[in-house]
Amino acid sequence: MRIAITRETAPHERRVALVPATVQRLTGQGHQVGVETGAGVAASYPDEAYAAAGAVIAPDRGSLLDGCEMLLSVQRPAREDLARLPSGAVSIALWQPASAGDLVSAAAAAGVTVLALELVPRTTKAQSMDVLSSQATVAGYQAVLLGASHLARLLPMLTTAAGTIPPGKAFILGAGVAGLQAIATARRLGAVVSAFDVRPVVKEQVQSLGASFVEAEAVSSAAEGAGGYARELEDEQQRKVLEAVGKHIMDQDLVITTAQIPGKPAPRLITAEMVKTMRPGAVIVDLAVETGGNCELSRAGEVVQAGGVTILGPVNLPSQIPQHASLMFSRNVQTVLEYLIKDGRVTIALDDPITGPMCMAHDGQARDGR
Ligand code: NAD
Repeated sequence: MRIAITRETAPHERRVALVPATVQRLTGQGHQVGVETGAGVAASYPDEAYAAAGAVIAPDRGSLLDGCEMLLSVQRPAREDLARLPSGAVSIALWQPASAGDLVSAAAAAGVTVLALELVPRTTKAQSMDVLSSQATVAGYQAVLLGASHLARLLPMLTTAAGTIPPGKAFILGAGVAGLQAIATARRLGAVVSAFDVRPVVKEQVQSLGASFVEAEAVSSAAEGAGGYARELEDEQQRKVLEAVGKHIMDQDLVITTAQIPGKPAPRLITAEMVKTMRPGAVIVDLAVETGGNCELSRAGEVVQAGGVTILGPVNLPSQIPQHASLMFSRNVQTVLEYLIKDGRVTIALDDPITGPMCMAHDGQARDGR
């Protein structure tokens, strides 16, 4: 099978879909892998490493996509790249399903099959294909480092000849995949860590990482929806959550927010009023900024100063650690490929529990995916 890996062109995207180790595995299985020149450079994987793994380095995108049967990218392909693919080709990428309508129709019209990595079902069987989890892990880690680097103070406790520095306090809102990694990272940096989530089931996970769990009266099993995700809170529950967060946030130094509700705007957990009560020099990192933000004052891609508090709204954090983010992404994609390719051919079965939900276009038809 002819597999192509393109160089990412989205602003600030430094990841690459496959790293040389995965390419080697594919070429070892008899696949032809073409890599656009420079595709891995921003993630610290030079062309030579791909060539050593058996890939053909394509000097331009046209020659790469001609006759390609499988296009692998991190971000969804551009319309002109889709148009170059032969009918029957498959595109696997982060397709951003919510905003992909027109592009998916174009792919369907060109006979291209679209598999969106965001729509891999979150089941035990598909866990090793789940890029949302692997990239959230990287984001949770990087959020803490980013926040720590903007703090006016140290995080660990230090006993020095110049006196003793007490440990900083970190508060993590939302203890899913990113939040749990943020807790672990803040603990490693020596902070005293606390966390809050509306799903009561995470309390034990938070405590097992050495953090304390902030209780709110609203936390009840009603806050847990389908598939282990959170659901939107009723007004009264939301009021109690804000009350609990508001009481706790006043003496925190570093606050990382990761709370999300699938398919809905991010829940508002930190109001402008709460920010006013925080210590000067404190930092908030809002990982939910792209879905509306957990903090009222955060802005996507910006650093906001409010009364001595710094509020960061970083976008695409995994891309800031591109080598390992790509490695994890690549392993996820490799598992997807091994699942799809049987006897050297891709099999798309729309009734399959993994391929079916991922598929947004096939056989000339646009589909809803999940
Ligand atoms: P997510 O990104 O949708 O949300 C992050 C966290 O925000 C969640 O823990 C959620 O409970 C929390 N949250 C939502 N509303 C909140 C509010 N108002 N206040 C505080 N916190 C709020 O979730 P995620 O991190 O992608 O994963 C969530 C669940 O899915 C976890 O149980 C995880 O273990 C599970 N999961 C399973 C698989 C799998 O089995 N393959 C893969 C990934 C995740």
